[in-house]
Amino acid sequence: MPTRQPTRAPGGRAECFDVLDPATGEPFDEAPDHDPDTLDAVVDAAHVAWREWRSDPATRTGALLAAADDVEAAGADLAPLLTREQGKPLSESYAEVARTAARLRYFAELDPGSQPITDGRPVRSEIRWRPLGPVAAIVPWNFPLQLASAKFAPALAAGNTVVLKPSPCTPLATRLLGSVLSSALPEDVLTIVTGGEPLGARLASHPGIRHVTFTGSIPTGRAVAESAAASLTRATLELGGNDAAVLLEDVDVERVADRLFWAAFRNCGQVCMAVKRVYAPARIYSRVVEALAHRARTVVVGSGLDPVSELGPVNNADQLARVERYTAQALSDGARAAAGGHRLDRPGYFFAPTILADVPSTSRVVTEEQFGPVLPVLPYTSVDEAVEAANGTGFGLGGSVWGTDLDRAEAIADRLECGTAWINHHAELSLAQPFAGVKESGVGVAGGPWGLYGNLRPFVVHRPDRPEEA
Ligand code: NAD
Repeated sequence: MPTRQPTRAPGGRAECFDVLDPATGEPFDEAPDHDPDTLDAVVDAAHVAWREWRSDPATRTGALLAAADDVEAAGADLAPLLTREQGKPLSESYAEVARTAARLRYFAELDPGSQPITDGRPVRSEIRWRPLGPVAAIVPWNFPLQLASAKFAPALAAGNTVVLKPSPCTPLATRLLGSVLSSALPEDVLTIVTGGEPLGARLASHPGIRHVTFTGSIPTGRAVAESAAASLTRATLELGGNDAAVLLEDVDVERVADRLFWAAFRNCGQVCMAVKRVYAPARIYSRVVEALAHRARTVVVGSGLDPVSELGPVNNADQLARVERYTAQALSDGARAAAGGHRLDRPGYFFAPTILADVPSTSRVVTEEQFGPVLPVLPYTSVDEAVEAANGTGFGLGGSVWGTDLDRAEAIADRLECGTAWINHHAELSLAQPFAGVKESGVGVAGGPWGLYGNLRPFVVHRPDRPEEA
């Protein structure tokens, strides 16, 4: 997915690029356009800082807990800036700041321990976990702080240092976060660099980097994997999703409609594991379409800084164009807009919350990730057909099943080919759970202890069990 690239000054490299407010489409500030050549010095400094940072787990825990307190205390500065550059309602920005602090606390207190290997041989073998070195963290614009912390919190807790690159669409709250964290973290333990694709590509391929952890689109994920392969660097990729929600005949439509709607439209649909397709039994299809369309028509859309707004703008012009293109194509494929279906006639990147009915299953809004406030609803006649359709894309991030018979719903959820399946919910994650996409949705595991181990390497020590065998 293209993101806005830094603008370059005539005759050479610009030192800054504009940051736009998606609620107006106008620039409101700028961020440094770091030259990829500066990464050599940044990564060298991260190596030097690593020597000290890796040596004392207790100091690390203390620093990360202090960092979490500092993030919380800075909420009133971070949240409005995040809304200004990202577009989401202010309450969601505050929630994102809170999750950033919570992640720091969770990983600060997670101990990888050491594990004995018992295999019947007369040796004492033990796994001790070792950090890797400087980690490159590259993140997108939909949850700039939350996704950054999902990378730097486990990496730092494991004893690595981090070079973090946010999206050029949302660099400012991350830069502010960096300065907030600098009180608790030693110099060069976490460095933030800002810029576009050339900077990301150089960072992902830098020979001094020991782990590239990337969240973003599938095409960029492929490029990152190729870059990391050049230096045989470990790569963790959290990529796109096209999650299906399968409604069963016994679902209580009115009861779940709000939850289902927000599972699709939170953050203006710009959530990797948002509900992006709904499959409803033919018998209740029109009720489901109408329940969702009613919510789409009545939700309050506006600037995220306006306290009454429930839904903000799409983050950037490229993304808005993509949402518009997919919707127009679905309509020309024969879909009906039960709500929305068009841009809003106002400045900024606003798109009307859209429910698409009667969409051909081959339309791109069904087969690809639209990543915006648009939801196709498709009818089915047998559950097997719905499960096959849900599993019938190259994606495999999440999925959900909705009904009142929970055992039956769970049995159907168990057949979904994805990393996380929910019953009567969607996109609810615990800090303690593994998060991993299958198929093209990802490589590697984040979250919980697995996220910590993803930033460590096993180091095994063998010694004889008894002195006479030495
Ligand atoms: P993107 O792939 O365009 O960009 C992500 C980041 O990669 C940005 O910082 C960008 O500057 C950088 N980048 C671009 N080209 C690069 C290259 N060649 N090498 C290294 N870095 C490069 O994604 P986006 O448009 O910012 O974000 C939306 C996508 O992110 C969606 O597909 C969404 O599903 C996905 N996403 C996935 C998850 C998940 O956990 N699976 C979470 C959030 C978002």
